[in-house]
Amino acid sequence: MTVLEICTYPEKVLLQQSEPIADINEEIVKLADHMAETMYSAPGIGLAANQVGVAKQLLVVDIAPRRPESDLIVLANPEIIAVEGEVTIEEGCLSVPDCQAEVKRHEKVKVRGLDLKGKEVEIEAEGLLAVVLQHEIDHLNGILFIEHLSRLKRDLYKRKLRKKKARQQG
Ligand SMILES: [Zn+2]
Repeated sequence: MTVLEICTYPEKVLLQQSEPIADINEEIVKLADHMAETMYSAPGIGLAANQVGVAKQLLVVDIAPRRPESDLIVLANPEIIAVEGEVTIEEGCLSVPDCQAEVKRHEKVKVRGLDLKGKEVEIEAEGLLAVVLQHEIDHLNGILFIEHLSRLKRDLYKRKLRKKKARQQG
């Protein structure tokens, strides 16, 4: 089992646009495999490639990792092609430790991307799955969930994180 190191805010790879994947080759399949293992071990319900330091458009999601209905989704070059409604859920992020906050997102989304065979797939999602997909696709565009908060809350979190970092280094 390969568990990769998870990058945390404000590492640069989290704040930049990831590159589309031109070819689903062995390296990408292996990366997806390692990302899934890293997500399950964290534990988390979604992970974007730039969270493990690879600026490529690849994500893994599993909203029921400990249950029998567990269903791993792997998508390359994902894009949201339709949205509907609004929902507010408390989110957290493996790359933004010790922060939880309510974020307003679309309740339903349709996402198009490539599976690991390079085949185009479309996923219709709602509720938690829709939220996680939006969160991970945001990652690939260099956007962290704290960017969706009010400026006041965001600044508060950023200050808290900086203090924590300073303490760790000190
Ligand atoms: Zn995240």
